[in-house]
Amino acid sequence: MRAAIVEAPGKVSVTTVPDPTPGPRDVVVSVASCGLCGTDLHILQGEFAPTLPIVPGHEFAGEIVGTGRDVTELAVGDRVAVDPSLHCHECRYCRVGRGNLCERWAAIGVTVPGGAAEYAVAPVANCVKLPDHIDVKDAALVEPLSCAVRGYDVLSGTLGAEVLIYGSGTMGLMMLELAKRTGAASVDVLDVNPDRLGTAGLLGCSRSAAGAEELEQPGGWDVVIDATGNAGAIQDGLGRVAKGGTFLQFGVADYATTAVIEPYRIYNQEITITGSMAVLHSYERAAALFASGVLDPSVFISDRLPLEQYPQAIDRFKAGIGRKIVVEP
Ligand SMILES: [Zn+2]
Ligand SMILES: [Zn+2]
Repeated sequence: MRAAIVEAPGKVSVTTVPDPTPGPRDVVVSVASCGLCGTDLHILQGEFAPTLPIVPGHEFAGEIVGTGRDVTELAVGDRVAVDPSLHCHECRYCRVGRGNLCERWAAIGVTVPGGAAEYAVAPVANCVKLPDHIDVKDAALVEPLSCAVRGYDVLSGTLGAEVLIYGSGTMGLMMLELAKRTGAASVDVLDVNPDRLGTAGLLGCSRSAAGAEELEQPGGWDVVIDATGNAGAIQDGLGRVAKGGTFLQFGVADYATTAVIEPYRIYNQEITITGSMAVLHSYERAAALFASGVLDPSVFISDRLPLEQYPQAIDRFKAGIGRKIVVEP
């Protein structure tokens, strides 16, 4: 089969590799679409993936074309979205229900071959069957949405809250859509890129601006979400949290990024600073939300490229062009 492959740091190509074979409880998925995200850039830089070469792609959906010996729940022809999480279910964190912090954390497309290929293998337990009205080529969006759902699990209450989101890339826009669904009183969005900000306006944010100082909000915001990973945005956001409010670190910062906190204010105003990492018991619900129409795929997917153009898709993503870029093998 054809597959994108990261051979060494900075080196990605599309080549022919052996077809994958499923284990007893695995299925083989003919990939319909696979999204790119910042994690793929980290892998290409030689981070995250413990061993190269690796077939990347952890955001994908497709049709089942083969099943392992002991699979009874799904069959050839079923269309599925795939949760890439491979938690060990044995370590301390898995045993307390926090598999996304697993000591042996692994994921399809990060530590084992992923969806940027004609075929990918996944445990049947990681597959969610798609309803008939969903175009399987749009369902690569379920994985990033499941990360956003995890973010709202951590926030555990936005009903009536005034929300501020830094960043209106794919993830910021998903956080916007879920803020509306979870009953936020208002959702303001910040971005220095006017095109992206325009999309936030299109999706119905309350106010949008290049910086928070442009918005009148004397008491700050009950919930501040960073969806940029940018040091300047994070530092600014920490200072915009209202009394009793919460700051959520959702964007992936570089390892070396630091920010200054004000311990007296955290104490005196009961500020919560928290984070959310990837997917935790949130994939099934993301698929249900996706099926209910929470996202308009025509807004969220800006580029659809053939698999052979995976390196070009990476370049386009690096250049910050568009929103979600997918390859369609
Ligand atoms: Zn991703
Ligand atoms: Zn574990």
